[in-house]
Amino acid sequence: MKLTFIGTGSGKTRIDRFHSSLLFSIDGFNLLVDAGDGVSKALLLANVDFNSIDAILFSHYHADHFGGIASLFTQMKLHGRTEKLKFFTHKSLVEPLVNYLNSTYLFFETAGFEVETYGFEFGEKFEITNDLNIIAKQNNHVKNSHGLPTENVSFVSSGFLFETGGKKIFYTSDVGDPRDLLMFENQKIDWFITETTHVTTADIQTAVEILKPAKVFLTHIDEEDEADLINWLSKINDGKYILAEDRKEFLL
Ligand SMILES: [Zn+2]
Ligand SMILES: [Zn+2]
Repeated sequence: MKLTFIGTGSGKTRIDRFHSSLLFSIDGFNLLVDAGDGVSKALLLANVDFNSIDAILFSHYHADHFGGIASLFTQMKLHGRTEKLKFFTHKSLVEPLVNYLNSTYLFFETAGFEVETYGFEFGEKFEITNDLNIIAKQNNHVKNSHGLPTENVSFVSSGFLFETGGKKIFYTSDVGDPRDLLMFENQKIDWFITETTHVTTADIQTAVEILKPAKVFLTHIDEEDEADLINWLSKINDGKYILAEDRKEFLL
């Protein structure tokens, strides 16, 4: 399994990091996790053929994780895609995805390639390939905190446990509070990919002590936090921590 960081920035657009997006490549199958604003350009820079992406999984619909999907879908059309594309998102977010694409004049019926959507349930294990399963759990990142009357908006966001080749990877995506770092506490985690914008370095260190992963990847890096993160990493001086960079690849 190869993990490529396509984008490692936070919700604030920056020059030197794209918004956060990951690519899992397993036996020729490519799963893109999130497709935020600018993802098409990020993929071009990473030398990833748009049409080599077999499936796209969404954690939530903030612009830095979702806002690039209309453009990416357009690129697939413009590049003459013929292979099927699969979308995986929470079951309550399938309809909003279709409506969003339709509102940009994109329709599955006229894409020129087959499109399949799968709406997962929280806690359910769903299969992406024979060698890639995922469990999604709801975290506290997205809330209707102002109690707005938004019946048509689904306030859900996911953290993911990926299982491949007998290994487990926990990707927090965006979290709401430190408890979200421990949603798979009872699992043996090999790789821990954590965001760094909505939690402190102390929260991350506590989670690492509990989860005991072999590797810790720090991503969703805000420009304002980066110097502090580098300083913190130099102090803990533990080789298991890696500050993610766009286009960096890792083999599991
Ligand atoms: Zn984000
Ligand atoms: Zn978010």
